[in-house]
Amino acid sequence: MTETNCIFCSIIKKEIPSKIVYEDEEVMAFEDINPAAPVHILIIPKQHIATLNDLKETEEKLAGKLLKTAALIAKDKKIDQTGYRTIFNTNANAGQVVFHIHLHLLGGRKLTWPPG
Ligand code: AMP
Ligand code: ZN
Repeated sequence: MTETNCIFCSIIKKEIPSKIVYEDEEVMAFEDINPAAPVHILIIPKQHIATLNDLKETEEKLAGKLLKTAALIAKDKKIDQTGYRTIFNTNANAGQVVFHIHLHLLGGRKLTWPPG
């Protein structure tokens, strides 16, 4: 999948609607359309990166920013103390369906471990 037919690039360009919870020049966070928990937010870079395998060394800081943004949103949603999970799914065995990296932020209920 390239930038031209990427659903998350379309969300960034606001060609398709989303419930945005945070946005700046580098990253965007929006509610997952099919939430798996009371809080389920996706944090993405505005730059199109297909999978974690494609993350370049020069993009390490950007990946860190996705995690820091998740932590700030968790605090804002008041799940930072009760707990939450942050996940990148990569390729088929992990069930990745959208090939623009996204950090899942899940919380608001007791999450089971290990995941399925
Ligand atoms: P993954 O399996 O890690 O690729 O997760 C893709 C996630 O994107 C799923 O949790 C979907 O529910 C979510 N998703 C797909 N399309 C949209 C959309 N238009 N708006 C918000 N979330 C979406
Ligand atoms: Zn994209």
